[in-house]
Amino acid sequence: MEDKLHAIREEALQAIEQASSPAELDQIRVQYLGRKGAVTQILKGLGKLAPEERPKVGKLANEVKKGLEKALSAKKEELEKAVPEERLITGFDPTLPGRRLPYGSLHPITQVMDEIASVFIRMGFSVEEGPEIELDYYNFEALNIPPDHPARDMQDTFYIDDKVLLRTHTSPIQVRTMEKRQPPLRIIAPGKVYRCDSDVTHTPMFHQVEGLMVDTDVSFADLKGILTLFVHEIFDPETSVRFRPSFFPFTEPSAEVDIQCVMCRGKGCRVCSQTGWLEVLGAGMVNPAVFRHVGYDTEKYTGFAFGLGVERIAMLKYGIDDIRLFYENDIGFLSQF
Ligand SMILES: [Zn+2]
Repeated sequence: MEDKLHAIREEALQAIEQASSPAELDQIRVQYLGRKGAVTQILKGLGKLAPEERPKVGKLANEVKKGLEKALSAKKEELEKAVPEERLITGFDPTLPGRRLPYGSLHPITQVMDEIASVFIRMGFSVEEGPEIELDYYNFEALNIPPDHPARDMQDTFYIDDKVLLRTHTSPIQVRTMEKRQPPLRIIAPGKVYRCDSDVTHTPMFHQVEGLMVDTDVSFADLKGILTLFVHEIFDPETSVRFRPSFFPFTEPSAEVDIQCVMCRGKGCRVCSQTGWLEVLGAGMVNPAVFRHVGYDTEKYTGFAFGLGVERIAMLKYGIDDIRLFYENDIGFLSQF
């Protein structure tokens, strides 16, 4: 009887080893350990053996049973780990997690524009908007640029007809707001503007943020203070700022605002043409001629205005040397910000 048990064990272990599926293993289990299985039969028949044989055979039969159970569960685990053949063929594995969709993000220009707006909103400015297709009157005439004025040549304009054009700056919004509201006024006007121009630092469409503050005692000192604070918020509080005399038809006096080069910290490099300074803003005290167009009392009110290019600020902030990268829609480039 003991020899028979040894033979059964060998045979079963071999069958388990060669099994290639959980179903096959189940068959083997039934064949040996099931209700009518070979090992079960021997255990059931113990009573018919001679009394002196019973303990030895019983002990061995139980050992065989336990050994086979262990071998079966080990093999079962091994088979479950392996990738089933049909999954390899179709390439479809329903147990894999789903593919994640990539998250979108705001365009770097939108991010910088929001950042600029938030600095001015914290200083009490409100945000105003206006049409991109604008009347010549609001884009030029009301800003002290009559039809024959040479300043019109400074901006290559897209005309739709004699009276209608794509706005070349967001200044028309300042005029439209002044027509509707009386001082005190603190507004910024962010938006798209258009000029017939294209190279590494110019695109036919770009973004501006302009600002206007009008009240009874607004001076050039207010302009300097607010714009210096703005530069320190956007770049870094250590950045030096300088104001250079300039000319704009809608402001008098006018200034260009330079910041210490953010690339070389003023030592001189390719970006700042070895000067150590970068121009970032145009500004000035509002020309009384502009106030007269909107009916403000020029004896009572003074104001300052400023304008900046959002792309330029973004390029300096992130060290980008070609403006066109913003509009090529390269997700790899855009997702860095
Ligand atoms: Zn530099």
